[in-house]
Amino acid sequence: MNDALSRAGLAIVVPGAVLAAAFVAAPHAAALPASLAGLKLYGPWLALGFGAALTLAFNRGRAFFALAALALACAAFSLGWIGALKTFPQRTVFAALAIFVPFYFALVAWLRERGVFNAHGANRAIIAAALVAFTGWLVVELKTETTAWVYAPMWDAGWLASPIPHLALVAIALALLAIAGATAATGSPVDAGLAVALLAFAVGLHRVGRPDEFAVFIAAAAAILTVAVLKDTFRMAFRDELTGLPSRRALNERLLTLGSRYTIAMVDVDHFKKFNDTHGHDVGDQVLRMVASRMARVGGGGKPFRYGGEEFTVLFPGKRLGEALPHLEALRAEIEGYRMQLRGKDRPAESKAGRGKRGGRGSAGGRTVSVTVSIGVAERSERNDSTDAVIKAADKALYRAKQKGRNRVAR
Ligand code: GH3
Ligand code: MG
Ligand code: MG
Repeated sequence: MNDALSRAGLAIVVPGAVLAAAFVAAPHAAALPASLAGLKLYGPWLALGFGAALTLAFNRGRAFFALAALALACAAFSLGWIGALKTFPQRTVFAALAIFVPFYFALVAWLRERGVFNAHGANRAIIAAALVAFTGWLVVELKTETTAWVYAPMWDAGWLASPIPHLALVAIALALLAIAGATAATGSPVDAGLAVALLAFAVGLHRVGRPDEFAVFIAAAAAILTVAVLKDTFRMAFRDELTGLPSRRALNERLLTLGSRYTIAMVDVDHFKKFNDTHGHDVGDQVLRMVASRMARVGGGGKPFRYGGEEFTVLFPGKRLGEALPHLEALRAEIEGYRMQLRGKDRPAESKAGRGKRGGRGSAGGRTVSVTVSIGVAERSERNDSTDAVIKAADKALYRAKQKGRNRVAR
């Protein structure tokens, strides 16, 4: 959880920088020389088009539909349907965008990634189409009292003066809260991107009266979502989904950057097959996450990776075996001492195989389980002078740790 929170914080950095750039660029948009006037016209469409192409190529439905919502807003702006907010249709379309786009972003943030061209994608498209149709109906049927109701002030006009109706400001605030919640829960760059992109969109709405600024902030929002998708893709390639640790691929890259002194430890959960058979795969997965979270805090500059299955690797760049040993021993002891509470539904129906040495008896009511790990460690030396050789040596040491009775560190 803490991990997800800090990742969520980091995920805000790049989109925040894009938004900051938009703030700097926006006032200059109107002053662009005539030769660059095309940029004003096509800039946001370029950003939206590039984003759409990328999200389609990667089949990223969430970002794609958020971009589609931005494209609708951009189209309304380009067609003069918002304009100076003078006429009833302009005021109605503007209010609809200011309420429905935040709602849609919040919806997208809480929906799972399910691609674009399938029944789920169709549902998301239908929701957007329904909102567009509803807005069109308000305009065509001259629902002036609805628009007047939306624009009715909810607080003193002097405070937070904006062309955005107060009701829409509330909608934006609620949507931002909802997306922030999703971001904190997942740490996903796409969720963080949705939050900052919505913020950019809201700033664009707020500044709709200034020439060209709306388009600049739409372009920024599109860029934010696109970068978020790229970051998410990178994360998928280099992070293990179950444990959140860097993956085998990340380890292979890191191995290529090592100098002439390093130590490698291979960590393997003891009797994990039996543990799975006794408690089920769900509890097994939970244990792997627990082990991974202890490994993430290993000292001595150790870098943990999920090697595969119930096997992990800890890399100690620049460290001798003797320097790494105490930290590995501490890791082993911490995992041994950890008692994981079984939630109700994780409990085996009848603990037939329970009561064994794996499933310890619980203290206050609930049952707890614990696991141990065996660790094999080796350092780079004259004899083992490649990462391959060191990993093999660590594997052999791991085998010795298992032979000697498990739950120990062997060299
Ligand atoms: P040893 O003490 O000798 O290491 O025994 P072991 O049972 O841990 O060794 P073995 O390699 O035979 O079994 C590993 C088991 O780990 C097999 C599989 O059931 C389990 N496993 C591998 N990956 C996962 C995973 O992602 N989730 C879960 N729940 N189990 C996994
Ligand atoms: Mg194994
Ligand atoms: Mg094992």
